[in-house]
Amino acid sequence: MLKLSGVHTHYGHIHALKGLDLEVATGEVVTLIGANGAGKSTLMMTLFGAPRASAGRIVFEGEDITRLSPHEVSRRGIALVPEGRRIFPRMTVLENIQIGATFADPANFEADIQRMFAMFPILQQRLQQRAGTLSGGEQQMLAIARALMGRPKLLMLDEPSLGLAPIYIRRVFEIIRELNRDYGMTILLVEQNAHHALRVAHRGYVLQHGEVVLSGSGAELLASSEVRAAYLEAG
Ligand code: ATP
Repeated sequence: MLKLSGVHTHYGHIHALKGLDLEVATGEVVTLIGANGAGKSTLMMTLFGAPRASAGRIVFEGEDITRLSPHEVSRRGIALVPEGRRIFPRMTVLENIQIGATFADPANFEADIQRMFAMFPILQQRLQQRAGTLSGGEQQMLAIARALMGRPKLLMLDEPSLGLAPIYIRRVFEIIRELNRDYGMTILLVEQNAHHALRVAHRGYVLQHGEVVLSGSGAELLASSEVRAAYLEAG
């Protein structure tokens, strides 16, 4: 579904991605792990076209999307739930959900919102509430629901468990599993929480200083002594 070949990204003089190769197949959950500053968020943003890759190629469903704008990338069926969620705090929960459906077929709205309520019952209870009054975990649910309303083919989640209470951390990973198992959603996940993330992932990549240093199945990476030493011992 998605293939990055030799992708480089620069922020001025900072060389953030250094020739990255990565693939995501339809129906997979793929996790990127790595320390702060390894380039995980940059990879997702580069996929989205802001910043653009300075070299290399990004192909999505057979089409070269390397030079597309974020808007064009999202029209191709890629959705990003950014780090920090970025919901609209002064709008209601319902309005935030409606924004997610802006480019979707209006004929699907009712069925899709019912599906969201089944998955995120808390949102149904809070529809008319301002989104900024939700807890961090509820805001993360809203950010995911908003992205799903556009019926993406590929859902990218940047640090979805960051800063959440333990009960919501568990729920976020359950949702990832459910979306993949029940709806066949293809997911690219960036996480500091390597243990949880590798357990839900089919495959994973370890990034260091803008390069892939290790890749394998979720189970292989969980068992790898390098991964254990660098990313799992503390957790
Ligand atoms: P984190 O978990 O801290 O977000 P990360 O793995 O996602 O880490 P990136 O945020 O992608 O890492 O950062 C990769 C490199 O690019 C770092 O050296 C960072 O300082 C730099 N960088 C990231 N965003 C910018 C920006 N907007 N302008 C300049 N440099 C940036």
